Amino acid sequence: MSNIVLATKWRPKLFSDLIGQDPVVTALINSLDNQRLHHSYLFTGTRGVGKTTLARILAKCLNCETNGVSSKPCGKCASCLAIDAGQFVDLYEVDAASRTKVEDTRELLENVQYLPTQGRFKIYLIDEVHMLSTHSFNALLKTLEEPPEHVKFILATTDPQKIPSTILSRCLHFSLNRISAEVIRNQLEKVLTNENINFEENATKNISKIADGSMRDALSISEQCISHGDNKITYNNICKILCLMPAENINEIVNLIVNNDVKKLMDLIEQMYFQTADFKYILEELISIFHQTAMFKVTNKLNDSIYDTSIKSLSEKYSEEEIQVLYQTGVANLKDIEFAPDHKSGFEIALIRMILFMPFKIDTSEENNNNGNLEKISSKKKPSDQDLNQKSLQKKNNSKEKEVLSIENNWEIIVKRLDIDSITRNLAKNIIFDKKIDNTLHFLIGEDRASVVTEKSKDKLKEALTNYFGNDIKIFIETSNNDLSTLHKKDEEDYNNKISNADKIINNDDFIKTIKEKFDATSVENSVQIKDLTNGE
Ligand SMILES: [Zn+2]
Repeated sequence: MSNIVLATKWRPKLFSDLIGQDPVVTALINSLDNQRLHHSYLFTGTRGVGKTTLARILAKCLNCETNGVSSKPCGKCASCLAIDAGQFVDLYEVDAASRTKVEDTRELLENVQYLPTQGRFKIYLIDEVHMLSTHSFNALLKTLEEPPEHVKFILATTDPQKIPSTILSRCLHFSLNRISAEVIRNQLEKVLTNENINFEENATKNISKIADGSMRDALSISEQCISHGDNKITYNNICKILCLMPAENINEIVNLIVNNDVKKLMDLIEQMYFQTADFKYILEELISIFHQTAMFKVTNKLNDSIYDTSIKSLSEKYSEEEIQVLYQTGVANLKDIEFAPDHKSGFEIALIRMILFMPFKIDTSEENNNNGNLEKISSKKKPSDQDLNQKSLQKKNNSKEKEVLSIENNWEIIVKRLDIDSITRNLAKNIIFDKKIDNTLHFLIGEDRASVVTEKSKDKLKEALTNYFGNDIKIFIETSNNDLSTLHKKDEEDYNNKISNADKIINNDDFIKTIKEKFDATSVENSVQIKDLTNGE
């Protein structure tokens, strides 16, 4: 390979060489070929997308001696060659970031009124123009308001928001796209093949991703790899040079998350720590994997990524909602990681949360308390005979649903079946059925609960019961100073039982034990909340 660096050697010299900017290029070609020239152009876009490259091509289009003003400069005349070599006397390239003062701008614009020395137009290319001071912008504005015929301004910036509207309104604005990883990869492989450099597909795939929309970055990363890797670009080399964690390690992390293996996960992190892993980068990679999994769930298409195995196993194990939980946990922890004592601790917490925040199904029935396992809802389990029996029982219950039950012994079931809001349901749960006289239902309510009776909730309950029984029902609620066994009381007792059972389960769980050991943690008694994950009744 020659000594010229790749990024310089492969810098596009014609519009047709420029990749990933078709809409902008088409617009410029049309305006040049129709001789509709503007006196100032503004190119915006993130770094490395080709703003200054585009500006230089435009400079050639305007100054080519052979072809005149056209979209196809010859590339051979003195002007074209001088512009390519960066030696054209009428092209003033300024980096506004280093020349922000008004004196600098005045000095630059001092000679605007004089005719060009060599070319057709004097071209002022001001890069990072948003860095100019207010006074500098004012000085520039004066020239932009009445520019001499022989002058063209090309402004470039990554941050158009910071440019005053008075300047913006005088420019023809072109917004350059971030170049997609795929386009970068194709171009990169074309360049490498041309330069006779061997490369691994995983390597170019990864470089295109890290380049994050910038062709220039992709080429300079490749350059580094070539000089380290004996004229060859390998995936392992990239990981070494950029201190990246190889994909197989990240796939292993995902595998351990899928298997809920916190202990092995922590061991792996410890191991990675000694390989000077960048934990923030790994977390970003995980988030990207969750994102790709969410997309895979929707589109059923894999993008041929180095994490395909992870994406498949995640999508087999988790539902769409659970993938969202993983993604959300990852993103939230990406912010938190900066506030953690160090990135490693932040990363450990992130992984534990990913496993912890999955919805658990806590089975609080007596016979299951002994083995003390927290069973993931998502774990694919073949239905046992017992499950099937329960299902057929449920079916029978469903068919009974339509049947109108007598109120005497069935208040609990009837309340469950009534279509009422939570306030009315609260009333229903605080009263007990007393007697029925004609069409009037008499209920009792404890004196201490009398405040839950309101005219509105009473009306709603009456309406719901009328609908249920199919004839016009009246209700009468009387206060009582007896200790009534209401549904409300029953709910409270059930809840307290569940809490004490759940505490027992959690304290016996292997996973929780590992966390306690690892972080010297204790669980707060009675801090467990029961989440109702069953549907309907
Ligand atoms: Zn030319």
